[in-house]
Amino acid sequence: MISEVLPFNELKKVDPVFGQLSFDNHEQIVFCNDKDTGLKAIIGIHNTVLGPALGGTRMWQYNNEWEALNDVLRLSRGMTFKSAITGLNLGGGKAVIIGDAKTQKTPELMKKFAEFVHSLSGKYITAEDVGMETSDMDLVREITPYVTGISEEKGGAGNPSPITAYGVFMGMKAAAKYKFGTDHLEGRKVLVQGIGHVGESLVEHLRNEGAEVLIADINENRLAEVSKKYGATVFSGDDLYSADVDVYAPCALGATINDGTIEKLNAKIVAGAANNQLADEKKHGELLKKRGIVYAPDFLINAGGIINVYAELEGYGKAEIVRKTENIYNTTLEIFEHSDAKNCTTHESALSIAQGRIDARKLEQEK
Ligand code: NAD
Repeated sequence: MISEVLPFNELKKVDPVFGQLSFDNHEQIVFCNDKDTGLKAIIGIHNTVLGPALGGTRMWQYNNEWEALNDVLRLSRGMTFKSAITGLNLGGGKAVIIGDAKTQKTPELMKKFAEFVHSLSGKYITAEDVGMETSDMDLVREITPYVTGISEEKGGAGNPSPITAYGVFMGMKAAAKYKFGTDHLEGRKVLVQGIGHVGESLVEHLRNEGAEVLIADINENRLAEVSKKYGATVFSGDDLYSADVDVYAPCALGATINDGTIEKLNAKIVAGAANNQLADEKKHGELLKKRGIVYAPDFLINAGGIINVYAELEGYGKAEIVRKTENIYNTTLEIFEHSDAKNCTTHESALSIAQGRIDARKLEQEK
């Protein structure tokens, strides 16, 4: 009996799932366990009002199950707003597999995970995330149709990173238009932090437009390679947050806008690909606004990837993917205007417009 392990009062205090800080009225949370393959996964379905919950599967060595649960809760919520603000008929979901993708990911484990996805009958549709490759999604596809991000040979839309970078570029141009009166980035100084799949492609767009690009990464080889290929300058100062630049583009980790960095920022615009850039959405969003730094909401401008996988479900081609991604420019400008009119942060503005779309659809459904 549970009460022999922990007294009822203690259990009440803990509220292990619905009481989590990151719990935000998620519709369904599925814990998946398989002894034979060692699979331990959690699927988070945040909201399905606009459509099936779509979001990638992340395989990560979490320190404990609380971390994994919090990650899936936070990430699946983010997907709801990302799809809603982008105008896609998708809900928000995400999955995490607990373990080391390099040593513990086997075809059997992936197929067992696919069975769990299949058991949800399309309410959740999976895709790639950290620790996953297109080939893993091809394996999942052998078991269930509820997967996107499969290889182009198997009818998928392929690598989403270049299109994500293009959307970030569009969002950055909209921010420049709002802040400087012109969206042309020629001569503007942009610092790209993280020159991986998305960052490198963003550097290419920026250099093609004549921007002065500074790059930072923990991978020295990448720095040398990307600097040579596009004529970007490797950032060499002590502290990149205080760099004298027009735009700071976080394209590596989340939460880089935090108590330790925000006061140092000299950039006039923050626009990048990383998810969850604001360590504290409310507090750091307000501080950026107070300091006159224009923040292009991450979940809005990095939506190119989801637009790319949505194409697999809707059956549209590259031209429509590009059109939808270019529209990030217009939506970003609308968000800036809305945040001025309502005197709220751009993050709050994007969230409230996304929530408005969900609420309107819910009303229609209830009629
Ligand atoms: P990636 O793993 O290819 O690249 C990340 C890069 O950041 C690597 O080069 C890595 O060395 C570097 N890095 C890691 N820690 C760093 C640090 N402390 N300082 C500087 N550089 C550091 O990842 P990606 O696919 O390019 O994605 C980048 C970000 O964009 C991630 O936060 C991801 O969640 C987000 N994102 C990606 C996509 C997509 O389509 N790939 C879509 C939406 C959001």
